[in-house]
Amino acid sequence: MGLLQNAIYSIEVGIEDYQEGEDKRNVSAVRNVYAGILLLLKEKLVRLSPEYDPDLLIKKRLIPQKNKAGDVEFIGAGKTTVNLKEIEVRFKNLGVSVDWSRLYEISRLRNELEHYYTDKSPGLVRETLAKSFLIIRDFLTNELDESPVSIIDRDLWPAFLEIEEVFFAEEKVCKESFKGFNWKYETINQAVKHAKCYFCESSLVQLIEHEPYDDKPAGKPLFKEFLTKMQCNSCGEPIDYWPDFFEKCVEELLYTDSYIAATEGGIPPYDSCPECGKNTFIFEEGCCVACDYKPEHEGCARCSNHIGLDEQDLNGLCSYCANLAEKIRRE
Ligand SMILES: [Zn+2]
Ligand SMILES: [Zn+2]
Ligand SMILES: [Zn+2]
Repeated sequence: MGLLQNAIYSIEVGIEDYQEGEDKRNVSAVRNVYAGILLLLKEKLVRLSPEYDPDLLIKKRLIPQKNKAGDVEFIGAGKTTVNLKEIEVRFKNLGVSVDWSRLYEISRLRNELEHYYTDKSPGLVRETLAKSFLIIRDFLTNELDESPVSIIDRDLWPAFLEIEEVFFAEEKVCKESFKGFNWKYETINQAVKHAKCYFCESSLVQLIEHEPYDDKPAGKPLFKEFLTKMQCNSCGEPIDYWPDFFEKCVEELLYTDSYIAATEGGIPPYDSCPECGKNTFIFEEGCCVACDYKPEHEGCARCSNHIGLDEQDLNGLCSYCANLAEKIRRE
């Protein structure tokens, strides 16, 4: 069987697992569909590989060698094949497009389900599958020139569609519940569009009751005074601990930026707030969007260098100058 057939087979087995409706088959549904996606991506690498070695681009290690004619060509060394991260790099270099933030989200959801599956997880399984199907459909059509409807088993196709339909209808209700949401900080207004349940990772978070910020007297805008009720429609838990909810949304919104900062260098978009400890200190806003904390000191009183978040308790000095002052005091 070729890679493409293997990929489709894996996806179909996943849909069948899901149709069984049993808890233990649910995890394997996600596992199989995810494996299917990886195979689809590898199929693209095979199609892009040179004629002399169709497996070349799926090999992790590529080494240059001279062929009989004396020309330099790459050969794939060893048996190890590329992982998701390496596929991403190759695709970017070769102009193949994939919705990476969605794919990494699926990968995180899959991990979540592998490790923390509970009786409240079936909703999250459907969500992970629905999001996976979007990727599968797009990639088959746009990158592999295959028609999903004719390549996937006719008997399973309706199930494929239903999983998508049910989830995206639910998601729409949730997204619309946040319409008109107006919090003091723009980062949060953007971040709630990426709302996620901090119990189960589902994006089916619905705002049940909401009093807009504008109706409240200015001065002390605390989130809990304005938002009364939210719930996760996947695991059913009420979401009422705002700092955790904000943190989750911010991490989702800025996931790509902080990922790039961490892997390619640069300033991360947010940091841990010294006041509330949540990852909600947004540099662009100059404050913590969850608890309103603003840094007391900007520049060092002695050398006027910038004072970081972790240096705020040094009486207005940067850590270098604070050390120096401490040394002088001891002498
Ligand atoms: Zn949940
Ligand atoms: Zn804070
Ligand atoms: Zn200083």
